[in-house]
Amino acid sequence: MTHSSSTVAPAENPSAKQGFPFLDLKAQFAEIREEVMAAVSRVMESQQFILGPEVAALEEEIKPFVGCEHVFGCASGSDALLLALMALDIGPGDEVITIAFTFVATAGAVARLRARTVFVDIDPETYNLDPDQLEAAITRKTKAIIPVDLFGLPADMDAIIEIANRYRIPVIEDAAQAIGARYKDTLVGSIGDFGCYSFFPSKNLGGAGDGGLITTNDASFAAKLRMLRVHGSKNKYEYPILGINSRLDALQAAILRVKLRYLAAWTAGRRRNADRYRQMFREMKLDDHVKAPLAPSSYFHIYNQFTIRVKERDQLKEHLRMRGIPSEIYYPYPLHLQPAFADLGYRSGDLPHSETASAEVLSLPIYPELSDARLSMVVEGIAGFYRSR
Ligand SMILES: *Cc1c(COP(=O)(O)O)cnc(C)c1O
Repeated sequence: MTHSSSTVAPAENPSAKQGFPFLDLKAQFAEIREEVMAAVSRVMESQQFILGPEVAALEEEIKPFVGCEHVFGCASGSDALLLALMALDIGPGDEVITIAFTFVATAGAVARLRARTVFVDIDPETYNLDPDQLEAAITRKTKAIIPVDLFGLPADMDAIIEIANRYRIPVIEDAAQAIGARYKDTLVGSIGDFGCYSFFPSKNLGGAGDGGLITTNDASFAAKLRMLRVHGSKNKYEYPILGINSRLDALQAAILRVKLRYLAAWTAGRRRNADRYRQMFREMKLDDHVKAPLAPSSYFHIYNQFTIRVKERDQLKEHLRMRGIPSEIYYPYPLHLQPAFADLGYRSGDLPHSETASAEVLSLPIYPELSDARLSMVVEGIAGFYRSR
């Protein structure tokens, strides 16, 4: 022993108050524990783990949330993007347009196929692909456009589809954060050629591990996707094309089927919390400092994140942390400035709106189980920060 217990620092950082979680999955589990355990047990009794009836049932039951005729579970949202690009035969020499202010997987899937990512800047109000910048990025090599419905807010699909159709370029929707979100009454993921979803635990419909879903309304793409996720096989041990191993586990499907029954209510809870934040920002006169997320009335935002924008982001985050109030930064660095994408040759200043957003965004807890008291603590924490300045 080199120290006595009296000199050991307490387990929690003494300078920060013990807080509450940014996302409380334990609270969600407590609500559905018995149903989840029964679903797990059902799969264990069946000993059927790869695809099979649970996955088929989920693919059927999820259709009202994704609005597509053909639906395939796969191993992750990242793989859903990869499978869509593979279905389009994208490879070396091809270009794919997307945004840099997103999760790495959006552009990572393009790089894995040795195609080139072309980044366009975001609309600083929505954080989504700015359609006004799209046309200038199109070349004869452009083989796909990947708009992202970032934080659960649909991208401006009418404008994107109009341009894509004019140039006959397929559209892959990265709806990983936006299951059930609607753009002018149409479900995201059903507007372009492919919809890509993630069941990562922090997504609105999250599994007990990794999982994803790819959707399409095109029968020939569907036939290809069905093969691509099982090594490219049509019948057992016959491979018309080369695919990958990317399937949704039966265990995940069984758990997701339980959670799917709650998804609409959970989304309503997130939207209610978003309204409550906006109302409190007004009441506490924070609107001059804090820019709440845009929510146009013709868009159904599902708030995977509730992301505010503030000039003094890092100081505010630290102020909140000291008071036990959680917040997260999605995303602190835009992809075009990441070392992993250095070969693309982008430089600081190339995508000014993406870069400014990375410096100013802060996501606040929004999960449906968040109590009013905790939500108020968050807003009071923010108000306290601006009073102290
Ligand atoms: C989560 C996410 C993905 C990837 O999903 P995984 O299931 O984690 O592979 C892709 N794009 C976006 C925008 C995401 O948020």
